[in-house]
Amino acid sequence: MLYTPDTIAAIATAPGRGGVGVIRVSGKNIQPLIDGLIGKPLKSRFAHFAHFKAADGSTVDEGIALFFPNPASFTGEDVLELQGHGGPVIMNMLLKRCIELGARHAEPGEFTKRAFLNGKLDLAQAEAVADIIDAQSEAAAKSALKSLDGAFSREVHTLVDDLINLRMLVEATLDFPEEDIDFLEAADARGKLHKISAQLARVMDTATQGKLLREGMHVVLIGQPNVGKSSLMNALAGEDVAIVTDIAGTTRDTVRELIQLDGVPLHIIDTAGLRDTDDTVEKIGIERTWAAVEKADLALLLLDSREGITEHDHAILAKLPASLSVLRVFNKIDLTGDAAGDIAEDEIHVSAKQGIGLKELKNKLLKKIGWQGINDGVFIARERHLAAIRVAREHLNTADACYLQIEILAEELRLAQNSLNEITGEFTSDDLLGVIFSRFCIGK
Ligand code: GDP
Ligand code: ZN
Repeated sequence: MLYTPDTIAAIATAPGRGGVGVIRVSGKNIQPLIDGLIGKPLKSRFAHFAHFKAADGSTVDEGIALFFPNPASFTGEDVLELQGHGGPVIMNMLLKRCIELGARHAEPGEFTKRAFLNGKLDLAQAEAVADIIDAQSEAAAKSALKSLDGAFSREVHTLVDDLINLRMLVEATLDFPEEDIDFLEAADARGKLHKISAQLARVMDTATQGKLLREGMHVVLIGQPNVGKSSLMNALAGEDVAIVTDIAGTTRDTVRELIQLDGVPLHIIDTAGLRDTDDTVEKIGIERTWAAVEKADLALLLLDSREGITEHDHAILAKLPASLSVLRVFNKIDLTGDAAGDIAEDEIHVSAKQGIGLKELKNKLLKKIGWQGINDGVFIARERHLAAIRVAREHLNTADACYLQIEILAEELRLAQNSLNEITGEFTSDDLLGVIFSRFCIGK
């Protein structure tokens, strides 16, 4: 992997005004910046109060300068950090001065990318940096910190080490075909393969939880007009909410809320009531509803307990994608006297207006999306990681099925290992790196 370790600079703190703003500089050629800005040498890892100088000797800003010589820095290169006053104008003046002194503007994620290229972080850890910053709940932030700390990477390395040991056995057999199967049997190669598969299944399980924490789920509320969709949305959003965001418009449009259940972000979309209509505006709302349904992981079909499932509801159900899982929520039980809570596996009684049965509904929701509850072991994960694990599992399954064909066995084990190595970035294309780091913000 080749890259030019030129000197990059960016404002590392969030845009806007704050007490302190930080400019981060990293690269090979920090000295001209120290000379030009500070005018005296900086002690390593020591907070210096300084006046940051303009070319004419006037002061651009005053604040703290920190110098981290390579390799003991975030990027592994020489790093200079300038803590100035956190206003957008003053920060930009200071950044401009750094550019004047030979740095260039950093690209999104470039600091973290350099940390990866210089071996300070592996790829899963680098991704965790972005996930900490983007975390939408405390649970997600904690899990991301665990990944940054290497919890996920260590699991992957253990699996890769076990795979390497197994591959050595198998490849030794390739070299001495006369010993072949007996040799593998004696070394319990198949038992080792099964053990790796079982461990990989456990990692997949944890990673799936980690992905849920990071990305959450899209839940869509559907049903006929007036069954209580908006009321349920408000009731769900009203309690235990860490962050609530309102994105869209009118009652005939789709409205989104982000709610946290047990730390899992749920994007809930309230939709226009689904019915045949000639009203143009309502028609648009209904079209949007179907668009939301297509993107959802789970649908809540709201029903009026007094009516039960009507033929209109059957018509709605018939139009849903077969793959979409549906929870039937019978609302308004305050009017029927039905008991709150579970009716059947996918059916539940609630009253949105009275706030009855909501706890049971939330538990059912979490169960339905596969959430097992937060525990200390959960590290953050992404679809990319899950995809790599899935591919590795397929190769291990093929390896098991073709156990007696040693050349295929060897090849499948090699492919499984490559796939796992992609997670930590030991086997990664430049294209993939581009995709991953370009999604970071500038300054990270
Ligand atoms: P939507 O059209 O499906 O979004 O339904 P709304 O949430 O706007 O509710 C329609 C009407 O039903 C409103 O008057 C609500 O107050 C009422 N409603 C909603 N939930 C309940 C409930 O649990 N019990 C009773 N009695 N009324 C409800
Ligand atoms: Zn509504």
